[in-house]
Amino acid sequence: MSLAAARPIADGLFVEAGGELRLLGSECDRCGAVTFPGQASCPRCTSTDVSDRLLARRGTLWTWTIQAFAPKSPPYAVDDPEAFEPYGVGYVELPGEVRVEARLTVADPDQLRTGMAMELTLIPAPGVEPDVVTYAFRPVDGEAP
Ligand SMILES: [Zn+2]
Repeated sequence: MSLAAARPIADGLFVEAGGELRLLGSECDRCGAVTFPGQASCPRCTSTDVSDRLLARRGTLWTWTIQAFAPKSPPYAVDDPEAFEPYGVGYVELPGEVRVEARLTVADPDQLRTGMAMELTLIPAPGVEPDVVTYAFRPVDGEAP
C-alpha cells in the first residue's frame, strides 16, 4: 500500500523517505536516546535538544500476543463486536534504536516467534474510514537484523 494514496491515522508517525516507508522517531542530541513516537524532550535525560530520526525499517519480534476479543475501551473499541477479527500485536526491536509497539499483519500464533525478522508496512486502520492507514510489522524471510 502506498503512503501517497492513503491518509495516515495521525501526523508525525511515519513518512515516505527515499521511496520507502519509515517510522519517524526522535533522538536526543545529548545522550542519544531514541524514542517512538518522537518526543519534544528526552525521557532519559530530560534534554529538549532532540532531533527527528528516521527509524530502521527492519527489526526483530521482541514479544507478541494475539488480541482475540474486541477491546471495550476507546480508542480501540469497535462499533460491532460481533464483526471483530483477532489480530496480532507486539513489540518490534529496531537494532540500536527502540522497541516499537505495533500491530502485526498476522494473527496466527503458528506464524509468529520471538526473534523473527519483521519489516515495516502499512495496514488499513481499524475502525476508521477505509483509506486511513496505520503502521504495522510483517514477518519477512531472512536473518533478523
Ligand atoms: Zn537524552
